[in-house]
Amino acid sequence: MNENPIYFIGAGPGDVELITVKGRRLLDEADCIIYAGSLVNKELMDGCKAELYDSAGMDLDEIIEVITDRHAKGEKIVRLHTGDPSIYGAIREQMQRLDSFDIEYYVVPGVTSAAGAAASLKAELTLPEVSQTVIITRQEGRTPVPEPERLRTLASHQATMMIFLSVSMIDKVTDELIEGGYPESTPVVVVEKATWKDEKIVRGTVADIGDKVRKQDIRKTAMICVGKVFAVGQIQAESKLYDRTFSHGTRLARNS
Ligand code: SAH
Repeated sequence: MNENPIYFIGAGPGDVELITVKGRRLLDEADCIIYAGSLVNKELMDGCKAELYDSAGMDLDEIIEVITDRHAKGEKIVRLHTGDPSIYGAIREQMQRLDSFDIEYYVVPGVTSAAGAAASLKAELTLPEVSQTVIITRQEGRTPVPEPERLRTLASHQATMMIFLSVSMIDKVTDELIEGGYPESTPVVVVEKATWKDEKIVRGTVADIGDKVRKQDIRKTAMICVGKVFAVGQIQAESKLYDRTFSHGTRLARNS
């Protein structure tokens, strides 16, 4: 069963250099690549010898059919997902089908667009004394969100939030955030196409980001980044890790 496994690979957020070395090698070696065409940067497949399938127009049965047919011929198959496959990747359903065919598979992680957006913003998502928690979530749309995880409930923590799949519902998002407890002045940054050449960054607050996003006509492929960690140039707190008066496993405190 271990022979010729299928690889689910994280393509990263856009920039073609943000795929892992392992992912890059497996793409180059593949005979068949099924990629999530709505979000994956197609330049990643430039020069690949593989036959390409865009999964954007395929349903689960069709995807599995391509994988099983090609696998039966002994081909090397890559399923390429945007960002990191574990986040809104719809990989589990594919894996369950492969289990039923006794086909082995592995996952190669990728740089999630949440990390891509944070890098573009040069932001630290977990600032001491500001927020030590990052919530990855989405606004409920056609895909339901379990009741205890509704945005307004999560908002009560006032932690850092990276909201996926929701920019088309920005007003609903900000209403929920305010109802849930974020002050209207809380910074919100929307990063469209993080790490792509045509990346766009829109900065605002919970109160005004909706209008700004509409003016910029941002409707998809965007991360809504919420929280005080995104305030520009206003935060004083520094970490204990590099504090000279703080001892830890690899360094003794020096008196200041
Ligand atoms: N597995 C992916 C997420 C897939 S869901 C990951 O780890 O990034 C698709 C959503 O991801 C989009 O609606 C958007 O919210 C976000 N997204 C994907 N690529 C993005 C990018 N380059 N910039 C900003 N957001 C992105």
